[in-house]
Amino acid sequence: MSQVFANATNILPTSQSYSDALSLISSTNPQLNIVEQYWAAWYHYMQNDVLATGLLFFLLHEFMYFGRCLPWYIIDKIPYFNKWKIQPTKIPSDKEQWECFKSVIMSHFLVEAIPIWTFHPMCQKLGISISVPFPTLKTMVLQISLFFFLEDMWHYWAHRLFHYGPFYKYIHKQHHRYAAPFGLTAEYAHPVEIMSLGAGTVCMPILYVYFTKNLHLFTLCVWITLRLFQAVDSHSGYEFPWSLHHFIPFWAGAEHHDLHHHYFIGNYASSFRWWDFSLDTEAGPEAKAEREERMRLKAEQKAKKAN
Ligand SMILES: [Zn+2]
Ligand SMILES: [Zn+2]
Repeated sequence: MSQVFANATNILPTSQSYSDALSLISSTNPQLNIVEQYWAAWYHYMQNDVLATGLLFFLLHEFMYFGRCLPWYIIDKIPYFNKWKIQPTKIPSDKEQWECFKSVIMSHFLVEAIPIWTFHPMCQKLGISISVPFPTLKTMVLQISLFFFLEDMWHYWAHRLFHYGPFYKYIHKQHHRYAAPFGLTAEYAHPVEIMSLGAGTVCMPILYVYFTKNLHLFTLCVWITLRLFQAVDSHSGYEFPWSLHHFIPFWAGAEHHDLHHHYFIGNYASSFRWWDFSLDTEAGPEAKAEREERMRLKAEQKAKKAN
């Protein structure tokens, strides 16, 4: 029996199809909202929580990642949008996109085959709930905000380390193959990099639930979706007047990460600008000029004091 209903009295007959499961759940549980009904119907239809969670995560990753890449692929084909391309002379060719797509999908299948079978048992061990109803919106927003903060911190330090000598040469260099990134390149990386940078996305919620015992799998799904969108968008190569960082000044976005790919140095964080700003690792000629100016002033002051 699926654990999607915390209440053991909710025993329902098995359904032959997903739509049968959905109509059964909606008629017997009208108090659930539409997303909760779809969620419960999935677990009820599958009758195997391990496979239901594993497949859900695999499909979520594939649909959200490639689904988010598709609009960028189309935008790259429309000359009208070229005026907002950060490196406008570097529109990716179909061949480049295809090569990148093949490599990403291959590593998805290799890296994700095992978690399909192990993810649900791990959730159970940690106390990640799959049951309906879902937590309140406030709880989800607070938890996801915290995950964004923690992932960004992890990403900054791990990515900075990946730019150090041998780590760069043997691992991170693959991701820097494209000096002008496009959506699909977000997960174009060495398997070691996928796992270690991906740890920021997966391990932070695991640590959180380990200490609090309070996390729902649906919250995790929303978090992973938003994080995938952030990663794909930051590789899109487009800076629009309506890009998010114009409204939220500490949001990193494509402008921030494009400079990292262009200059190979600086702008190591993923979602926010505060780490690079406060630790003086901002990328690009403007940041470099400001840094040099600050150093010049410092040296002048020192010389004055010495005199
Ligand atoms: Zn890098
Ligand atoms: Zn990148």
